[in-house]
Amino acid sequence: MQKYRILSFIIVHILMFIHVVWAKDAVVGSFDFQEFFDRFLGQGVLNAGSIMVILAFFLTLIFGRFFCGWLCHFGVVQEFAWWVFQKLGIKPKTINSRLITFLPLFILFNFYIIPNVSHFFTSQSNWSLSLNMSYPDVWTFLPGVVIGSLTFIVDGFLIVYLLGKKGFCRYVCPWGAFLKFPTVLSTFKVRKTGDCTNCNSCTVACPIAIDVSYEINKFEKVINSNCTSCMKCIDDCPEDSLSYKFLSPIKDFEKAAISDFSYSKKSYINSKIKNLYKSLRSKDFFIIPFCILFGLSLDGLYHIGHMLSFGIAAIVILVTFNNEYSSKLRLFLLVFGLTFSLFNVSLKYSKSQGVTYYENNNYRKAVPYFNYIIDYYPLEIGKYHAYLSVCYYQLNEIDKGYEHYIKAKSIIKDDYKLNTLDDLYSSKKVTQ
Ligand code: SF4
Ligand code: SF4
Repeated sequence: MQKYRILSFIIVHILMFIHVVWAKDAVVGSFDFQEFFDRFLGQGVLNAGSIMVILAFFLTLIFGRFFCGWLCHFGVVQEFAWWVFQKLGIKPKTINSRLITFLPLFILFNFYIIPNVSHFFTSQSNWSLSLNMSYPDVWTFLPGVVIGSLTFIVDGFLIVYLLGKKGFCRYVCPWGAFLKFPTVLSTFKVRKTGDCTNCNSCTVACPIAIDVSYEINKFEKVINSNCTSCMKCIDDCPEDSLSYKFLSPIKDFEKAAISDFSYSKKSYINSKIKNLYKSLRSKDFFIIPFCILFGLSLDGLYHIGHMLSFGIAAIVILVTFNNEYSSKLRLFLLVFGLTFSLFNVSLKYSKSQGVTYYENNNYRKAVPYFNYIIDYYPLEIGKYHAYLSVCYYQLNEIDKGYEHYIKAKSIIKDDYKLNTLDDLYSSKKVTQ
């Protein structure tokens, strides 16, 4: 089956390449999971990404999370990273923590479901159903080369090296979290169909670090909602004891209990595999809130999006709490994590205060907040110079305002928002 899986990845990427080169993006717009939440739930636009999510959801009800195991480019990058590490003789341990459950769900609900569902219910008048397959343009919101490469390195390789198998899929990916719900009900699952010698080859083979051997012997099937239907466990079972088989959900859940879906202390402890995993579950009380706060403080700053900010957060916090690393490194990460988070929070607080005062025409109080951002934020952001130019103009400090106007113009090229500033400063005599 693995040959077919590799073929599937290759076909998907060839189709993407053909679309970009040949069709010049004109046929299909962004083909992303967030389209369903942002465009469809938020605005009513049924585009390629929304249709893909709806299809993926219903097909997952039948086949499980095959999308993650057979089509997703980020999944294949991480499997490739794991393969490279094994070939180089590097054997990263796979880290287990309750963060695997909480963080992807937090990202999914906090950034996608809650804002868009509430928008859907509160602004029905702006929501109208339309079909537009080429909307939005693929390239308009993709990260630039620097952030794109950093995301690839951090979420594709570094996270696998430090947190183990498919660290990004397990700890961060909100789309995986979204597909967990239909996966639980899926009719096709990996099931035990022969005698098992408990050799644990299936657990070792599983690219997403499920204790397959434990689950199939306890439940007669893989019950874990992270299963991506990749069939690697089936391929690697020397006894042919596993099959990917259909069973009606009613029969499947006849004897099931909610507790079956929670973590069991009896998993990951078989002597043949226990050295491959490291549990940090005893420290989850600190790990989960620290990680969410660190990720939130970083998210949106330095052009960093959700996936990279929470990928970095998961790495920093889980390494900090992993006593297999030196205490010097962990102390450094702890101090760095806290200081960096506090600094980022101070920037976000200044931004929110400055904009609030600005919007209430309280320019005098807005100025120190915008100046703080300009003085301490490592990147040059034209919009804060633009804010300051308006504030100083309104406070009749025209020279200072003009300086920020010129600075804003040198950073933001051809932005329509600058027209207001152009009008403001062309009609005023500048004492330069
Ligand atoms: S349990 Fe089997 S099918 Fe599911 S992800 Fe692991 S190896 Fe793939
Ligand atoms: S690989 Fe097969 S025999 Fe070995 S533990 Fe898994 S199911 Fe049992």
